[in-house]
Amino acid sequence: MNVYDSEMFKKVLRPLGYIPVDEVEDADLVIVNTCTVRKKAEEKAFSFLGRMRALKKKNPELIVAIGGCVAQQEGSAILRRMPYVDLVFGTRAYARLAAMVEKFEYDRIPVVDVEMTMGITDATPIPELDAEVEVSRFVTIMRGCDNFCSYCIVPYVRGREESRDPDAIVQEVRDLVERGAREVTLLGQNVNSYGKKEGLCDFPELLRRVSEVEGLARIRFATSHPKDLSPGLVAAYRDLPKLCNHIHLPVQSGSNAVLKKMKRKYTREDYMQRIENLKAVRPDIALTSDMIVGFPGETEADFDATLDLVREVGFSGIFAFKYSDRPHAPAAKFEGKVSEEDKTRRLAKLLDLETELSEKRNISYAGTTVEVLVDGHKEVKGVFQWTGRSSCNRVVNFTEAGKPTDGNLVGKVVPVYIETGLPHSLRGVLR
Ligand code: SAH
Ligand code: SF4
Repeated sequence: MNVYDSEMFKKVLRPLGYIPVDEVEDADLVIVNTCTVRKKAEEKAFSFLGRMRALKKKNPELIVAIGGCVAQQEGSAILRRMPYVDLVFGTRAYARLAAMVEKFEYDRIPVVDVEMTMGITDATPIPELDAEVEVSRFVTIMRGCDNFCSYCIVPYVRGREESRDPDAIVQEVRDLVERGAREVTLLGQNVNSYGKKEGLCDFPELLRRVSEVEGLARIRFATSHPKDLSPGLVAAYRDLPKLCNHIHLPVQSGSNAVLKKMKRKYTREDYMQRIENLKAVRPDIALTSDMIVGFPGETEADFDATLDLVREVGFSGIFAFKYSDRPHAPAAKFEGKVSEEDKTRRLAKLLDLETELSEKRNISYAGTTVEVLVDGHKEVKGVFQWTGRSSCNRVVNFTEAGKPTDGNLVGKVVPVYIETGLPHSLRGVLR
């Protein structure tokens, strides 16, 4: 989401004459777009911002801005803590960013804008100025979240859930495809509830409409909340060939006691049932997930239940995090905090299991042919390689091996014979 928002910042600032530079030292304006979902992300943002102090000393004209969730959460406190920061803008202020920068250029008075009142649809879509775009692009379809999982800060810093107009989304996808995109990832905190509040079309219908865009090869989305995974979405997997053979379905824990305290509103059994439903229409669908270890009160038995679930599902990838207290989130006040030592040990164990399963899954592709959307190339030890992703979201590196193509494969979907499955990628040759 922040990648998408950063793109938007680039677009709104272009009319003022700002263009991206490769080195931060060459910039007249630095925007640190932040995330606060976990403590570590917030710490990283502040440490990067800290580095801007020396830059500003060298170049007093430099404008330093902080945007995103940390800005939303901390507001003007950031100016007190880091007086060299000039602009603080929250998660719904992007439509006003250009005006803020323009004003600051004129009067050099720091601005803080963490207003949450703006609806996402109030932002006028600004046409993409770049002639060409990358093969795979993000498109935000909704913002905010109404779920209030007990550990999560998102609803407090990103606001209530709000969906974009489907016509605007489809138009944005069309524009991207015209400029070279072949794949889009539709983004929201809980895409399955897309459009419900506003009475727009539902998510499966949106998928259907997006899939009708000519020239678009693939559709992905994130994130789908297990509690709302509807029969309509399962039907979309059955009916829409452009929908990739992968779903990211964060389960967070394999223990019902922990899931309840997390307020996730599903049980382990519900989760397994949803997976069965998906597998009924796409038997080889790749599944990935988010996991939290060391949630307050998590016992060894609870953690074992998570390991057990991971094995049972056979995830092909996991993003696992140590639980951290977040401001506003009720779990920050829960008893039974797990020690840092136990969290570290559990995380390592879970990640070891994930590497094992991911490798196992990758090895199972050896000897098969997969469709790869090529997104670039590189040279490894003097050997030219194309790189891309399979529909099941594996990174695939491949050579032309005796089948030299004289054209550029970037943006094409090509068949690749997989020779080797590595822990985190596949290697093969063009078919
Ligand atoms: N809306 C998505 C998740 C967005 S946050 C969903 O509900 O699935 C991304 C991930 O960060 C979450 O899935 C969770 O695993 C992790 N996360 C969120 N809050 C956290 C916290 N307080 N401590 C550790 N991990 C957290
Ligand atoms: Fe956070 Fe839960 Fe909303 Fe995901 S669904 S963003 S975890 S509150």
